[in-house]
Amino acid sequence: HIAPIYMPGSDARDRPHGLPDFILVVIQDLTENRRLERTRTDFVANASHELRTPLASLTGFIETIQGAAKNDPEAQDRFLSIMLDQARRMRRLIDDILSLSRIELKAHVRPENKLDLTDIVRHTSDALSPLAAEMKVEIRMDMPEKPVEVKGDRDELIQVAENLVENALKYGGSGKYVDLSLAEQRGADGGRLWVLSVRDYGEGIPREHLPRLTERFYRVDTDSSRAMKGTGLGLAIVKHIVTRHRGRLDIESEPGEGATFKVTLPAIQEPADVSGPSTA
Ligand code: ADP
Repeated sequence: HIAPIYMPGSDARDRPHGLPDFILVVIQDLTENRRLERTRTDFVANASHELRTPLASLTGFIETIQGAAKNDPEAQDRFLSIMLDQARRMRRLIDDILSLSRIELKAHVRPENKLDLTDIVRHTSDALSPLAAEMKVEIRMDMPEKPVEVKGDRDELIQVAENLVENALKYGGSGKYVDLSLAEQRGADGGRLWVLSVRDYGEGIPREHLPRLTERFYRVDTDSSRAMKGTGLGLAIVKHIVTRHRGRLDIESEPGEGATFKVTLPAIQEPADVSGPSTA
């Protein structure tokens, strides 16, 4: 914003070339606001588009059943099962969109409940054992014997683990195993961290896609992605939850060698971690 300022009593016409006495320049950084606003409008547009596709297909099949296929029970059966698939897809999209918006509402609230990550890992492995059996993949677990305590929201961290293991089973299904592990690490500041890793031995993810995987509705166009049902919101949800827990998500993959998703969360500080001034 640039405003010319004329001194009181002075007149621009008195000045050679009509120049003002001062120019006041106000610079306000609107970039972040604009970016957030842009993200919101893009999201609404993309969500509407994603919902429209199955809805258009449903409308089309209803019209066909009422018209051309009115007296063809066999065709009606086929169309009804496609319609059920489309209705289920809409349901998944709506569930994921609602999850994402619930998590966004809580983005600035820190989860404070003490919980044990080994319990979350076991719960996830049990919950996904039917899918593992269907995909003929074995889930292997490697965790410490002792509780692995962090501050967090149990339901949200279960959603993180389930989304990652479900992806590993769906997209890494050509491998025989999915490895689920918990390991301790030290941060750059010496603080204790816990790393939850989900590793699969599938076809992996081409490097150029890695930075974009957590974008909403982003899906890699590979044979296994096309074959698998998904909304493209799972990893966006994971990223949001992990960020709210003051953690980070790292993704590593070599095409042909599978993928590893690592969630790093701060551990609850134990008295031994606090190195106070020595009294000796
Ligand atoms: P969805 O699974 O619903 O499509 P996600 O956000 O969970 O959405 O994942 C985004 C995309 O990332 C997937 O469509 C898939 O292409 C790719 N992807 C995720 N996990 C893996 C994995 N373990 N191996 C290979 N590709 C993966």
